[in-house]
Amino acid sequence: MKAAVLRDFGRDLEIEDIAIADPGYREVLVRIMASGVCASDLSTIRGKTGSALPLVPGHEAAGVVERVGSGVSKVRPGDPVVLSWSPNCGHCFYCQDSHPTLCDVYGHAAAHGGLWDGTSRLGPPEAPIGHYSCVSSFAELAVVPETGCILLPPDIPFAVAALIGCAVTTGFGAVANDARVRPGDSVAVVGVGGVGINAIQAAALAGARTVIAVDTNPARAQMALASGATHFVDGAAPDLADQVRAWTNGRGVDHAIESTGHPAAMAGAYAMTRPAGSVVIVGIAPVGATLAIPAIGFPGSKKRILGSIYGGGVPEQDIHRILSLYRAGRLALDAQIGEQVPLAQVNDALRWLESGVPGRTILLPN
Ligand SMILES: [Zn+2]
Ligand SMILES: [Zn+2]
Repeated sequence: MKAAVLRDFGRDLEIEDIAIADPGYREVLVRIMASGVCASDLSTIRGKTGSALPLVPGHEAAGVVERVGSGVSKVRPGDPVVLSWSPNCGHCFYCQDSHPTLCDVYGHAAAHGGLWDGTSRLGPPEAPIGHYSCVSSFAELAVVPETGCILLPPDIPFAVAALIGCAVTTGFGAVANDARVRPGDSVAVVGVGGVGINAIQAAALAGARTVIAVDTNPARAQMALASGATHFVDGAAPDLADQVRAWTNGRGVDHAIESTGHPAAMAGAYAMTRPAGSVVIVGIAPVGATLAIPAIGFPGSKKRILGSIYGGGVPEQDIHRILSLYRAGRLALDAQIGEQVPLAQVNDALRWLESGVPGRTILLPN
């Protein structure tokens, strides 16, 4: 099958014909119908996350079940599915402690570029190619753990389903599960990319009175305001926190959601949050980066700083909630989709993302 393979950081992905093994015990072979190109793919491909190579990137995807391995009961061939990039085992300490996105088994699998048993189904046995987050959707086919398959209603376009597989769930959940925005709250969303735009929509849907979109790219203002932001402010403005305070009774926002992965933006999100407010960090920073905040004021500020990964809740439940909101016309997801291009244009798509072209590019591998 055709797949985009990352063999060297800093170089274009190569479209190669690679072997893919049959799905094993509780594994599923999925034909990829749509794969979004997410900032996390870009960070990995540019060498910022220190992943082992080679690997097939892509983690925001939807497709159709082609074949199932032994012991699979959740899906059948022909089922449309959205793929979770954080499947979980259900048995480990964190799964039992209601933190499925921290699953130990998944953590081990993802760190080794494998599936549940730590081995890969991609490439020849003597030179395996790693999976990426148990998905690897920059390819015609993927073998994934059964728990990574989430059944889709048949009327959901694959491109929309792919978006829900990462950006929507990450932004929506950061607001709903981690910040826990209440009606009348004020929210700042720092970074209006794929995740940020969904945090804005979720904040508006939760009844936030003030939703301040923060981004250094003025081209993103229109989309932010159309998605429910009440204000847009330049993230590079020297008086950024003062502007935010001016819109929030001089106090700062109740919640700031940071999605850029830049430590300076994280510190900015902290600065614009009111005392006893919450700062939710979603963006993935490069390896070695540290977050600096003024230490002396921290205890007295009573601020909470929370890490948020894949929406911070139970992704499968969030995905079903998001699907029902989308079908009810309460979440506008179609407008977030940019170009839809064949797999062969994956390197163009990465460059568009890097240069801030608005809209999520969707790869169509089949
Ligand atoms: Zn992603
Ligand atoms: Zn687990």
